[in-house]
Amino acid sequence: MDIRTVGVVGAGQMGNGIAHVFALAGYDVLLNDISEEALEKALALIDRNLERQAARGKITGEDHQAAMARLRTTARLVDLGASDLIIESATERETVKQAIFEDLLPHLQPHTILTSNTSSISITRLASRTDRPERFMGFHFMNPVPVMQLVELIRGIATDEPTYKTLLGVVEKLGKTAASSEDFPAFIVNRILMPMINEAVYTLYEGVGNVRSIDESMKLGANHPMGPLELADFIGLDTCLAIMNVLHDGLADTKYRPCPLLTKYVEAGWLGRKTKRGFYDYRGDEPVPTR
Ligand code: NAD
Repeated sequence: MDIRTVGVVGAGQMGNGIAHVFALAGYDVLLNDISEEALEKALALIDRNLERQAARGKITGEDHQAAMARLRTTARLVDLGASDLIIESATERETVKQAIFEDLLPHLQPHTILTSNTSSISITRLASRTDRPERFMGFHFMNPVPVMQLVELIRGIATDEPTYKTLLGVVEKLGKTAASSEDFPAFIVNRILMPMINEAVYTLYEGVGNVRSIDESMKLGANHPMGPLELADFIGLDTCLAIMNVLHDGLADTKYRPCPLLTKYVEAGWLGRKTKRGFYDYRGDEPVPTR
């Protein structure tokens, strides 16, 4: 199927990156959010990020202008009805996502493919509440979207082959690489990454190492570009905890139990970079370990 127009729901951290890469790849993009402010911020951020890419010689000035010209915003969800492909990237709450799909359904074209960028919610369950489970997929981008090469494609139990093939073609046109994952909790990347981060927090909790020694060990000893605790702060400790809970509940295995210290940081509101404090304190010039 030929995809030309793309509707993106949610203009937050991920939605604006998704709109950015689709507009740059030549798709007409309509970005939606319930918050007008989020839409304004997203457009300004996309403009700045494209500018930065142009300054680094990764794209031309014309690419930047052409991408901005392909990008429109709307606070009315129904305006997305004419899109060939919808990417839902709103807040990670199942009731929010279900309500979005319910409101969209009466306005969609028969051929429209529905997708969700969810990190953890069952694709099969979201799809089952729509009129087109065979044309529904998980379309999981990594943060920051313009920088990260991988996209996970998750087929629900009912997803058909033409839908999967169409999205494979879209990922190729974006210049990214697809990895296919079955629809099980946290898919592939987070299934492997989050238990590692959780284990790093246990290592800290049990006093085997401190924040600095744990991060240094994994950077210099395992060649990771970022230490696991530094990475957890980047992702957001609330997000890390939510994904560990999804693994623990969904797979019913105690090896996924979230570390009590991770829970404690989240209870304190120390969520990482976004709140300026997590395993490091970011309020000064240099990040300072908090343990
Ligand atoms: P975010 O909080 O930055 O943005 C969410 C946006 O959704 C907000 O602007 C909010 O106003 C908007 N929104 C809420 N309800 C809406 C509605 N009914 N209609 C339209 N817009 C609505 O969140 P995010 O980090 O961009 O996450 C979005 C999705 O991407 C989630 O499903 C998350 O699991 C997934 N994801 C996040 C990451 C990450 O690292 N943050 C990585 C991969 C996938």
